[in-house]
Amino acid sequence: MSPMRIKVAVPAPFFHPLDYLPGNTPVTLGCRVVVPLGRRKIVGVVTGLVDQVEDNDGIKCRPIETNLDEDGPSIPAPVLRLCEWAARYYQHPIGEVLAAALPAYLRKIKPPAERATQARASSKTRKALSKVQALNPGQQAALQALETGAGTFSVSLLEGVTGSGKTEVYLARVQQVIDQGLQALVLTPEIGLTPQLLDRFKARFGDAVAVMHSGLGDKARASAWRAAHEGRCRVLIGTRSAVFASMPKLGLIVIDEEHDQSYKQQESFRYSARDVAVVRAQQAKLPLILGSATPSLESLHNAQSGRYLHVHLQERATAQRLPELRLLDVRGMSLDHGLSKPLLDAIERHLQAGGQVLMFVNRRGYAPAVLCHDCGWVAPCPHCDARLTLHRARGKLICHHCGAQARVPLRCEACSGTTLIPVGQGTERVDEALQAHFPRARIERMDSDRARKAGELKRLLKEVRNRDIQILVGTQMLAKGHDFDGLTLVGVVTADQALYSADFRAIERMAQMLTQVSGRAGRGEVAGEVIVQTHEPEHPQLQNWLEQGYAGLAKGLLAERRSARLPPFGHLALLRADALDAQLAHAFLQRVATLITRGPIDVLGPIPAPMERRANRFRAQLLLSCESRARLQNLLSKLVPQIDSIEGARRVRWSVDVDPIDLF
Ligand code: ADP
Ligand code: ZN
Ligand code: ZN
Repeated sequence: MSPMRIKVAVPAPFFHPLDYLPGNTPVTLGCRVVVPLGRRKIVGVVTGLVDQVEDNDGIKCRPIETNLDEDGPSIPAPVLRLCEWAARYYQHPIGEVLAAALPAYLRKIKPPAERATQARASSKTRKALSKVQALNPGQQAALQALETGAGTFSVSLLEGVTGSGKTEVYLARVQQVIDQGLQALVLTPEIGLTPQLLDRFKARFGDAVAVMHSGLGDKARASAWRAAHEGRCRVLIGTRSAVFASMPKLGLIVIDEEHDQSYKQQESFRYSARDVAVVRAQQAKLPLILGSATPSLESLHNAQSGRYLHVHLQERATAQRLPELRLLDVRGMSLDHGLSKPLLDAIERHLQAGGQVLMFVNRRGYAPAVLCHDCGWVAPCPHCDARLTLHRARGKLICHHCGAQARVPLRCEACSGTTLIPVGQGTERVDEALQAHFPRARIERMDSDRARKAGELKRLLKEVRNRDIQILVGTQMLAKGHDFDGLTLVGVVTADQALYSADFRAIERMAQMLTQVSGRAGRGEVAGEVIVQTHEPEHPQLQNWLEQGYAGLAKGLLAERRSARLPPFGHLALLRADALDAQLAHAFLQRVATLITRGPIDVLGPIPAPMERRANRFRAQLLLSCESRARLQNLLSKLVPQIDSIEGARRVRWSVDVDPIDLF
């Protein structure tokens, strides 16, 4: 007997699936179907089959037009269950969650004929696979600890310094899973930035590997998805949305660099792929490995409290020592475009010895502000509460928040003075300064401005590896898992910004970044050196990091978080609203706030966002916090569905961010 109603989740902002009548072909849960919505036709996913309806349910339903999945659902039951959990937890419409789980190609309406010709995973000629490296005793012990059985849920935090051989352990663990006839899912922060992980998996497992990330075209993404869905690929390597991939024989999930912020989607469906992976592993009874040299405080806390297994790799896999860290007190020193004499001398020394240097600057562009020396005017973005960044190479001032561009002014807009000076250092400026000091060295700059050009990052990384480049100047883009044998010095122009930041995660991030960036030094034969310039050498957190490393610092930070009841000891949700008028956003959130029963839930705000005006919209926020995740969830599930009907909701843009990682 066919059902009377079919519930279809459509990619539109409805919190519930819509009701349709059955069409000509039978459907099952998880099938993609073409349905009418208003005057449009769209692809939705079947989430429910209803056998009985009340006599007169009063709704006039239209029938489903086509079932695109006659051969079986594209969203198999475990993925549907996961998406339903994510929709509830992140308070996001289920149709949009399901849309995020499917590659764009599979969300298009296409005639069946076209579907038949869809690309199959292309089989490349089988390359000689790399030899299996013998694990050292530390790695063997780690592997053994990670061998929790298939069919049981476990989360293990694999904490090992950079270069300790974590990747080699993943490879060995994935091999075991493949040998059992199962599939492995490996998540990585940004494939473009870390081609080495991918290369090593491909070298080991050849055609058994499929890759899925946003840099691929629609068809390539869809064919990787299909290879996983049909069980043909044994290892799927992907960025965050791959956490929803359909894998019928999934036996293991690995999350590399689990602390990385790019696992959190920052717009629309604001989920954390790491946290979704934990739930996926739990629902499907799987082992999950979280790997990092600098674990997030959340994962560390879970490991220390015994919820996760804590597995350590204490030493570097090769005989190299970890680099020597040095805080360089630059107070009172004369700085040449931000560079002190001792730092320049160190660069000289390393270059003389044939080493390579990585110079880390946390901003792109030439200088983050342009200041009038006569009156103190600073060139502002006309649309944001922000300063314009000078991009000298392009001859422009650019706002890094809204993208606005302006010509470089010749005169001050306030006093017509002509002495305009660039303040602060960006990658372009440090690059230029180093060119002047080391004219014979080949110096290249690497930041997102440059990486925009296709293939540029890959080319530069290769040139560094071939030692054609002596000094690489770049942003934190370079802090990710690259492995440069000849790199002996890492310089950090300043570590101070994080120390003054209002963001409670700033120091954790700074320490992660500094530790990761330092991990780039001394991977080859020669021991490395790391020099961090600072005006705050006595800052307790910097000292902590220096003396006890990331782990010691993390311990101190966790104690602070505990007393402030911040994550992981308290749970947060951030309601944001923006409007053309500051008052509209504020008043709207004020009305939202009145719906919240205080007591167990702390409500902060509404307050203006730290950068109140961005792209001409005024932004306000309401921060909810609670010691109990369940209580906060309970409140949100009642509150969020009501928000659209609150007075003024149509005149603002609002969103809810559960477990926000960024309070801006
Ligand atoms: P991580 O992922 O922890 O940064 P990797 O797995 O990339 O560490 O290992 C760092 C370096 O050590 C790599 O060059 C790798 O080839 C090498 N390596 C790893 N394990 C071993 C081993 N057991 N024997 C020899 N070299 C190893
Ligand atoms: Zn002026
Ligand atoms: Zn702007």
